[in-house]
Amino acid sequence: MIKVTIYNEGVHEKTEKCVADVYPEGIHGQLKKVLSDEFEVSTYTLETVGEITEEVLKNTDVLIWWGHMAHQDVPDEVAARVRDAVHSGMGLVALHSAHHSKPFKLLMGTKCNLLWRCNDDFERVWKVKPAHPIAQGVGDFIYLEHEEVYGEPFGIPDPDEVVFISSYEGGEVFRSGCCYTRELGRIFYFQPGHESYPTYYNEEIIKVIKNAINWAYSPYRSDRGIDCRHVKIPTTVLEDVK
Ligand code: ZN
Repeated sequence: MIKVTIYNEGVHEKTEKCVADVYPEGIHGQLKKVLSDEFEVSTYTLETVGEITEEVLKNTDVLIWWGHMAHQDVPDEVAARVRDAVHSGMGLVALHSAHHSKPFKLLMGTKCNLLWRCNDDFERVWKVKPAHPIAQGVGDFIYLEHEEVYGEPFGIPDPDEVVFISSYEGGEVFRSGCCYTRELGRIFYFQPGHESYPTYYNEEIIKVIKNAINWAYSPYRSDRGIDCRHVKIPTTVLEDVK
């Protein structure tokens, strides 16, 4: 079974009743509930973020990250550990406002800014790469009755592949499903999931997250990413070259 670790800061759920009403067990609790049929899942919140050690990440196949108001409270060492683990082959699925999380920005190398607006718009998450493994099992588009609007320009490096583009009631568009490779690790950014909307109860959204976990999983892990080392070629080969 693929080992999935979920980090959700879990702050909105404690400070805002409207969020606690939607996610009484936290966003991490809901994600754990819907992912546990296929994956071995463990969860961390801001209160336990320091426990995301190198050892935990070594035993994580794919890390899911949700954060928003407490990005700055995540220690730099934890963000660096996540970056190093991705370089070593761990998968990362960054959800919604994780676009501004420390680990995601470290891995992108840019500010990852975007336009946003929260007015109960509907969202259509359009599949632009229907043959991509992350897009399997969902319709031409996923309809969400209410979502936060994220708009372009999105300050990310050009993705390796854009699997989804979203449109909103106001006409904005956004690259909402983006794939990256960083050294040995795969990263998928997926936009839906504002804390006050029941997005992580939507079966198609969960299907995409499951697909993303399977896509980001790699059986190959190296402790230090790719080594920089002197290569030895048998001398007989060198003589042939001469
Ligand atoms: Zn949001």
